[in-house]
Amino acid sequence: MGKYTGPVCKLCRREGDKLFLKGERCYGPKCSFEKRGYAPGQHGRNKQGRSERESDYARQLRAKQKVRRVYGVFERQFRRYFGIARRTTGMTGLVLLQTLELRLDSVVYRLGFAVDRAQARQLVNHGHIRVNGKRADIASMILRPGDVVTVKESARQNTYFKELLDVVDKRSFPSWIDRDGKALTGRVLRVPDRSEIDGNLNEQLIVEYYSR
Ligand code: SF4
Repeated sequence: MGKYTGPVCKLCRREGDKLFLKGERCYGPKCSFEKRGYAPGQHGRNKQGRSERESDYARQLRAKQKVRRVYGVFERQFRRYFGIARRTTGMTGLVLLQTLELRLDSVVYRLGFAVDRAQARQLVNHGHIRVNGKRADIASMILRPGDVVTVKESARQNTYFKELLDVVDKRSFPSWIDRDGKALTGRVLRVPDRSEIDGNLNEQLIVEYYSR
């Protein structure tokens, strides 16, 4: 599976919103979106206020791209998640967001073991994470309630995890997971509610996009 290697902050400017893709930088004055909150490119500034003029298709496309970028998922995989959500009982858009939240990289991020999902994906890809005691190096793995996520014993000697122990308890985590910061362990308690997923995402527009 490839990964996006282009300029990350450009994605926020493209979507016209902060997507929080760069860890702590997103919360400080260095955030590019705070300085240049208009679309990238030569005509970016002229696109300000474009939302009133946008077609339905453009709004649906942007809503889909935004979610894809927040979770760092490529189009093919995203379409596959949508197909799974459509076949699952429940509201398709909500099931799609819940599936994305329950990806292993997203859960590692939510547990506060990484500052953003890209870093969480790296920790998983490098084999530092275990699920239910077994090696889990596939970031797209979908977790279920009851699954236990831990940092591999030998990886705890790494500087990164030693430093993480000092800060992890200061990082908040949602109520659908539980965390033991000192043990670098977490458990999925339940599937997240809609209110526990980013309210700036519009899943209904994504459903409309794929239903054209
Ligand atoms: Fe987006 Fe974060 Fe870059 Fe700001 S610093 S533009 S929120 S990725």
